[in-house]
Amino acid sequence: MPTLLSLRSVRLKLDRRLENGNLSSWDFMEDNYGHLISYLRISITDRCNERCHYCLPQENQEWLPREEVLTYEEILRVARVGAELGISKVRVTGGEPLTRRNVLSFIDELCQIPGIDDVGLSTNGTLLNRKPYPDSPETNAAALKRSGVRTVNISLDTLNQQEYEQTTGRDYLQLAIKGIETAIAEGFEKVKLNSVLMRHKNEHELWDLVNFAQEKGALIRFIELMPVSSSEVLSEDNFLSVGEAKKLIEFKFGALTPLPDFKTNGPASYFQIESTGQIIGFIGAMTNFHFCETCNKLRLTCEGKLRPCLGSHLEFDLREVIRNPEMTDEDLKKFFLQVVARKPEQHDFRDNYQPGRRMIAIGG
Ligand code: SAM
Repeated sequence: MPTLLSLRSVRLKLDRRLENGNLSSWDFMEDNYGHLISYLRISITDRCNERCHYCLPQENQEWLPREEVLTYEEILRVARVGAELGISKVRVTGGEPLTRRNVLSFIDELCQIPGIDDVGLSTNGTLLNRKPYPDSPETNAAALKRSGVRTVNISLDTLNQQEYEQTTGRDYLQLAIKGIETAIAEGFEKVKLNSVLMRHKNEHELWDLVNFAQEKGALIRFIELMPVSSSEVLSEDNFLSVGEAKKLIEFKFGALTPLPDFKTNGPASYFQIESTGQIIGFIGAMTNFHFCETCNKLRLTCEGKLRPCLGSHLEFDLREVIRNPEMTDEDLKKFFLQVVARKPEQHDFRDNYQPGRRMIAIGG
């Protein structure tokens, strides 16, 4: 069985490293399909101040009890161990990460872990312009920048107030826009806007979103809806493919030239609008059959499940290992490698996938 074999081969490699006493010198993890794993997406909370229908379908959400969520110390330990195994990029997400108490000190510590040279944040943007405490001299965005966060990804599906409220369940469009402006003013290396494509909802707004990104100096990416959260999230009626979105954009702006060498560490493909020079991205998990080929990611959920793939039900309980006082960092490393050995070749989203968890409980 390939899985057992691969587990054995990873263990053999690991044992050899252990024998040589240089376990901490791994500079990459590789799965059975040649994916080099260097990226850990860390969800620090399942709580959110918005209620996007495709992410968190019901209003009466029950949040995880606090003791089930990994503490910051536990997450930092996982990140340190990951860094010793070759994780060099980390993105903090949720839920809405900026809703968790003391998130700024946590991110500050994360940025100082040796080997992690790229820390990013995914946020809905609504709290970026807010001060962490009333007399603070700086905004959350400024504090993040000062800590060394390099990129901020901000969700923005629509510029229409009513549509925003319908999609997110909250009337926070102006807060999100202010957050985007604050992040740009802070001078992060990249501010990326993520827009989920939804037929009948924002398909007529793609041009405005492209113009908005150009005006603000942000990099916009259009993302296909994925069947996470509940099976109603994605239907033939509301799905808008990247291919259609491209055509709509080309109709208005003219030809899009592919930029195969332009990369941002994720699965997006980038194109340049010839007429304006603007670069825009597309993330087509459902229609791009090469989507998983360059996957370099593991995900840590806020309650400590390590997941080798967003679009697979596989997940492994790292919290059990961390909270067992007999388990050492070497045990944690073995655990990491075993999860990497189980990483599938590609996601299952196209195979009548039935979601087992809401996106908010995985971390987008
Ligand atoms: N609260 C943060 C935010 O708004 O970006 C981080 C968490 S959110 C789950 C991360 C990203 O996942 C967002 O860009 C969101 O639009 C995306 N997302 C959530 N559910 C999705 C779905 N069903 N299909 C595609 N993208 C989804």
